[in-house]
Amino acid sequence: MRHFGFANTYARELPGAAVAWRPAVVPEPRLLFANAELAEELGLPADVLSGPDAAALFSGNLLPDDAEPIAQAYAGHQFGGFSPQLGDGRALLLGEVVDRSGRRRDIAFKGSGRTPFSRGGDGKAAVGPMLREVLIGEAMHALGIPTTRALAVVATGEPVFRETALPGAVLTRVAASHLRVGTFQFFASRGDLDTLRRLADYTIARHDPALVGAPDRYLGLLRAVAARQAKLVAQWLNVGFIHGVMNTDNMALSGETIDYGPCAFMEAYDPQAVFSSIDHAGRYAYRNQPGIARWNLARFAETLLPLMAGADDESAIEAAVVEATAVIDAFPAMLAGELLAGQRQKLGLLAATPANDQADAALVNDWLTLLHTQAVDFTLAWRHLAAAAEGRPEPLRDLFADRAALDAWLSRWRERGVRDGAVDGAARVACMRRASPAVIPRNHLVEEALAAATEGDLQPFNALLAALLNPWEEAALLTRYAVPAPTEVTARFRTFCGT
Ligand code: AMP
Ligand code: MG
Repeated sequence: MRHFGFANTYARELPGAAVAWRPAVVPEPRLLFANAELAEELGLPADVLSGPDAAALFSGNLLPDDAEPIAQAYAGHQFGGFSPQLGDGRALLLGEVVDRSGRRRDIAFKGSGRTPFSRGGDGKAAVGPMLREVLIGEAMHALGIPTTRALAVVATGEPVFRETALPGAVLTRVAASHLRVGTFQFFASRGDLDTLRRLADYTIARHDPALVGAPDRYLGLLRAVAARQAKLVAQWLNVGFIHGVMNTDNMALSGETIDYGPCAFMEAYDPQAVFSSIDHAGRYAYRNQPGIARWNLARFAETLLPLMAGADDESAIEAAVVEATAVIDAFPAMLAGELLAGQRQKLGLLAATPANDQADAALVNDWLTLLHTQAVDFTLAWRHLAAAAEGRPEPLRDLFADRAALDAWLSRWRERGVRDGAVDGAARVACMRRASPAVIPRNHLVEEALAAATEGDLQPFNALLAALLNPWEEAALLTRYAVPAPTEVTARFRTFCGT
């Protein structure tokens, strides 16, 4: 039998935070995707994905001997409204492994059947959305953005019923942890301070070990989570990523992107872009993501107040509120700083100083306004700016209808580069190409690949995945994976949540 080297610290150290549960048995498991590189990184047995048991193992039919599957409890604000009990309605944490670089990682199923948290749901998942997690998660990873990752996807051989009958699947997901803002909200909303404190200390030990035992560690945790979110959301914005469902149960305290449901990448730059079929008010639109992250962070801070205060007296709570508020209030500027740092890389400004902050932010905003008013593809515009830095502005100019406006901006940008002292140098161009990918998961290609996979043809999925794993190659610009969808297609494009 098989050992994954699991430890199950979550189940052990946090009684009452999860329910022991078993995955549903599926009729005909068939391996659709296996991430050998990730299995190696995790230190799993060499043949775990290639051996005869692979499909059984990654469908839940055959559990590793040392797995202790649990469904985790959590709550969450969904589109602003609080649900005191959500939890793993179709997911199970099998256990944790310590990977080859010493990091503790969760290995979990998604789509493995009903649990005590399923509410009305069937606990299942379909092939398309689980392969979507593979494509987007691996693309994010290749882009250098913290993310949960897919280890395997197995088709179950049974239908799941959505608007139509679809082939079912189980995803095996790897995460730095599944600790969410909503996990804290679950215990805070019940007034279970003991578990809440244990949960906070567990989170600190796992993600911010330097804070272990520090008297102000709960404030420190809030600061650390804020710093990770600021970095993460800035990275999202700089590749045009729209998460689509930034509910508090989908905000991981590790700072990884989690839950690729209705997410999408922007094509023509539009700060109001939103693709999710259920986000009628545009709550999670591209430009709202910093504000939503701040809002979620404030909900997290609220759960920490009693721990920060230590005592249950009013003045201690008031002092905690002041400290927490300072972190929340500092968050927008922290995120803006991360965003500008990334944008400077994309602009090829390597020697930036704070004295240039305002002028550089204005330069970026005028660039983005140009992209917006002329409906220019966000990814290609940034990427072709590197060619302009090489003295080859044509690919960029070809994207614009009003080239005079672009040329005026380009001369400002060149002057700024001159003052930076690194105009058109090879290092500068390389930095720009390292910050602006040639390839992102374009929505129409993702849909095309998933539609084919749903019909049993994995070729488009495998080819797209291969392209997404090498997003920085200049040669990729010549492939169909770099070409935007026709604007009519993007205008109609909708994503669907939780399917
Ligand atoms: P999500 O929108 O995927 O983040 O899910 C929100 C909540 O709904 C979580 O508690 C999920 O476990 C639950 N959920 C989503 N889909 C299903 C399903 N098919 N069956 C049971 N629970 C589900
Ligand atoms: Mg979720």
